[in-house]
Amino acid sequence: MELLYKSTRNAEKTVTASEAILKGLADDGGLFVPVSIPTLDVTLEELKEMSYQETAYEVMKKFLTDFTEEELKDCIAKAYDSKFDTEEIAPLAKADGTYYLELFHGATIAFKDMALSILPHLLTTSAKKNHVKNEIVILTATSGDTGKAALAGFADVEGTKIIVFYPKNGVSKVQELQMVTQKGANTTVVAIHGNFDCAQSGVKAIFENKELAKELDAAGYQFSSANSINIGRLVPQIVYYVYAYAKLLQNEEIAAGEEINVVVPTGNFGNILAAYFAKHMGIPIDKLICASNENKVLFDFFQTGTYDKNREFILTNSPSMDILISSNLERLIYFIAGCDAGKNSELMKALKEKGVYGLTEDMKANLFDFAAGYATEAEVREMIADIYKKTGYVIDTHTAVAAKVCKAYQEESKDTKKTVIASTASPYKFARSVMTSIDEKYDALEEFDLIDELQKVSCVDMPNAIKEIKDAEILHTRECDADKMEATVKEILKV
Ligand SMILES: *Cc1c(COP(=O)(O)O)cnc(C)c1O
Repeated sequence: MELLYKSTRNAEKTVTASEAILKGLADDGGLFVPVSIPTLDVTLEELKEMSYQETAYEVMKKFLTDFTEEELKDCIAKAYDSKFDTEEIAPLAKADGTYYLELFHGATIAFKDMALSILPHLLTTSAKKNHVKNEIVILTATSGDTGKAALAGFADVEGTKIIVFYPKNGVSKVQELQMVTQKGANTTVVAIHGNFDCAQSGVKAIFENKELAKELDAAGYQFSSANSINIGRLVPQIVYYVYAYAKLLQNEEIAAGEEINVVVPTGNFGNILAAYFAKHMGIPIDKLICASNENKVLFDFFQTGTYDKNREFILTNSPSMDILISSNLERLIYFIAGCDAGKNSELMKALKEKGVYGLTEDMKANLFDFAAGYATEAEVREMIADIYKKTGYVIDTHTAVAAKVCKAYQEESKDTKKTVIASTASPYKFARSVMTSIDEKYDALEEFDLIDELQKVSCVDMPNAIKEIKDAEILHTRECDADKMEATVKEILKV
């Protein structure tokens, strides 16, 4: 049966999966959602025997129904190959009684690789299916990890160009080096003078600019998005929650049907939304626990039912979560409003105009799948040190936000269900924060000496992603003001 997609802001129009992937964002500024969440065709018993790639096929075929079996399997095979440094693709590690789903074994050592290694293939397949003649220009705003993962995924992919905007002072040293050393004739990286929300709003405004779209079309270009607003990002992220459950079952850590909890360090709300989809596809997940850093707009939202971005933006030691406008929350708002596009549009308008909106009592009652918490920078440091001292396992700052929230949730709720924490980045990506959490003496060291020390304490080999940037040439030095993004894009494309 064909699954179609609608905009969260328009109940009328439907598009196919490949059209939704190509467009990224709907014309009305809404996000694409499937008209219903499909269920899996296979049992948990069957899933438990499957490889990551096989699981990916079972999950993704239910969402991308206009892809043929051959097309989808081809995309999966090209994405989940030796770019990942482990055959399992997303291994589960157990430390201190909790399971860490390691989503950082891809080319850029953060969880964004899980979706961005397949998105270029989904997109170029979609372009072929829809007879697109234009060159596709991927515009991406990044809080640090999406940018590199998208650059790596799209570099030298025929028929595409990619432009990435990152906040000049809002990413880690390793994150910045990874981006500015990116090779590929079709890649451009721009540092903006502003924070991630500026970058994301700027990209959204460019997408919504119909005049610009016409000018681009005349020049043989069209935009698409590699941000998690693209349904082609969200769908591949559902896979690893299904896979994690199946692995727990296979390893006899849980009994068939036993409910688990999932804790996700959250920024743009994409990763945790994928867990929500996995739950509604039929995976026995009880609570989806949303973990925030000091930019705790989501924690307050789940507490009060009011989303209020009017607050100070804080730069923290988990920079990929320094976000006040969580784009993907719009999809959840749409679902908890009973798929009411009118209601959702009204709230998104309020968010845009006043920076705040409140849920109705009915909508609030539909949030029962979720719990939420937040961790301060000091708590993050303490958590990293604590887990390291107890178990020898080293986690990154984002994962530590989740670990802290997990612990607080368990203590407070007395909920003893087995828990999976989405481990979203390699500690190597945030070496300074991680090592100084373990011992302040490391602060005296240079970045790459810190990395050597991390290798010693973690007993985990330095990932290729780090080796690559050690002596790489800086290839991108472009900067721009946040209100000049459109002009910069035109300059780059020469339109
Ligand atoms: C992007 C990112 C997050 C936040 O994920 P969202 O899908 O935006 O909520 C968390 N941790 C790391 C390391 C990330 O790169």
